[in-house]
Amino acid sequence: MDIKDVLKFANNEYSVLVKPNLIDNHPFSASIKMQERKAIKESQKKLKHILENIIINKGKLSKSKELDHFIEIGNNIIKKYRVESGRLIENNEINELSLRKAFLLNYPVWLIDIISTFIKFLLHSEKYLRKIKKCNDCKKYFYQSKLYKYQKYCSICTKKNHTPKDIQAERTQRSRNAAKKRKDKDKRELLYKKEYKRLIKEGHPMNKAKEFAELIVIEQLSEIE
Ligand SMILES: [Zn+2]
Repeated sequence: MDIKDVLKFANNEYSVLVKPNLIDNHPFSASIKMQERKAIKESQKKLKHILENIIINKGKLSKSKELDHFIEIGNNIIKKYRVESGRLIENNEINELSLRKAFLLNYPVWLIDIISTFIKFLLHSEKYLRKIKKCNDCKKYFYQSKLYKYQKYCSICTKKNHTPKDIQAERTQRSRNAAKKRKDKDKRELLYKKEYKRLIKEGHPMNKAKEFAELIVIEQLSEIE
């Protein structure tokens, strides 16, 4: 899990959010779900508030009750380690001593993981915090990629056309005009060839046939402006 997952959570794109069926079989699942949902929604709102501040302050953190809330949770998270399938596994758990802080009971494990990841990320320098961006188009948060120095749009919106409507319209008009000119030119050439052939057939000398054919074209199709 990294900062991108945290931003996904802020954007409402975190998969667990869509299917919070982890505790479906619990006898009080309905009421637990309601409290859990409340905890999720509130965390999301607070997270967004902090992200907005980071963006406005260009990577600097500012004190707020929202940040204090996450810090409090962070202070109550302990790491538990165990070995599984030959690997060391790290788990975030709420310190049992602080479980009397009733509100923490409603935080699903994955949400605790998200908050823990976010707090760890906030330990980074301004340079990294500044890479949190909000897409100018879809308004979703994203973490700036290494490839770009300045990125206004998320990876999806980068592929869209962001040229202003009036400039787009002008370009379309210009290319239409050019296409029309090309078509007119083709038409004139075709008519010229046809008339020239006819005049030669009728026995006119080449220079006369050329002159007459040109006159016919101008007469019938006027000149290109
Ligand atoms: Zn976007």
